[in-house]
Amino acid sequence: MSVAEALAAARERITRACGRVGRDPATVRIVAVSKTQPAEAVVEASGAGVDAIGENRVQEAATKRPLVATTTPWHLVGPLQRNKARLALEVFDLVETVDRPELADRLEMLVAADGGGRVLPVFIEVNVGGEPTKSGVPLTGAHALAEHLVDTCPHLRLLGLMTVPPWNSDPEFARPHFAALRRLGSDLTSHLGVSGLELSMGMSEDFEVAVEEGASWVRLGRALFGERRTTT
Ligand SMILES: *Cc1c(COP(=O)(O)O)cnc(C)c1O
Repeated sequence: MSVAEALAAARERITRACGRVGRDPATVRIVAVSKTQPAEAVVEASGAGVDAIGENRVQEAATKRPLVATTTPWHLVGPLQRNKARLALEVFDLVETVDRPELADRLEMLVAADGGGRVLPVFIEVNVGGEPTKSGVPLTGAHALAEHLVDTCPHLRLLGLMTVPPWNSDPEFARPHFAALRRLGSDLTSHLGVSGLELSMGMSEDFEVAVEEGASWVRLGRALFGERRTTT
C-alpha cells in the first residue's frame, strides 16, 4: 500500500469514528510520524496531504528535514532535552512535548533571543496514566505548567495538550485516559480563559477511540508507513 492509500484508509476510519459520535471529520488532523522512515516517505506523506510531519528525535529530524522540500509543518512528538532545544527550534514548527517549566523557560529564552517576532506554538504533554517511566507532566501538575506558560512565556503560545496513554493491546483501555485529557482541556480552557485547546491523542492502534473521545490531532506512524525501519 502506498502512503497515499494508507492515508485515505486512515481518513475513512476517522470519518466513521466521527460518525459514531456526531463529530465533523474536518476537525481531526493527522500528524504523520515518520521516525525511522526515509526522507522519501516524508515527501510522499506531505504530497498526499497529511497535516503535519511528526518526529520524536531532534537529530533524526534535523538530518531529514533539509531533504524534504515541503510547507507541511513539523511537530516534535518526542521528549526534548534542554541541550537540544536550540536545534529543535531550527527544525520544528511546533513542540508537542513541553512537560516542565525549565523546558518552557529554555524555549522562551531562545525564541526571545532570536528576535524576529516568532511565537512558538506548543502543546503540554500530560502523563495521564501517571506512569513513572514516561515523560509528561502529571495530571495534577498540568494547571501550574499551563499557568506558567501563559503568564511567563510570551514567545510561546499554548495551543493544546498531548498524551501517550499506558500501552495495552486493547485500545478500549486507552479510552478513560483520552477522556481525562479532554476533561483537563476543558478545565484549563475555562480556568485560563484561553480559547479551545487542541488534543493530540491516538496512535495507529487506538486512534479511532481517541477520535470518539475528542482528538483534534491523531499521530499515525505504522498506519501510514508500515513497520518501522529500525528500532528507536
Ligand atoms: C512513534 C510515535 C507515534 C506513532 O506510533 P504508531 O503506533 O506507529 O502510530 C505517535 N506518537 C508518538 C509520541 C510516537 O513516538
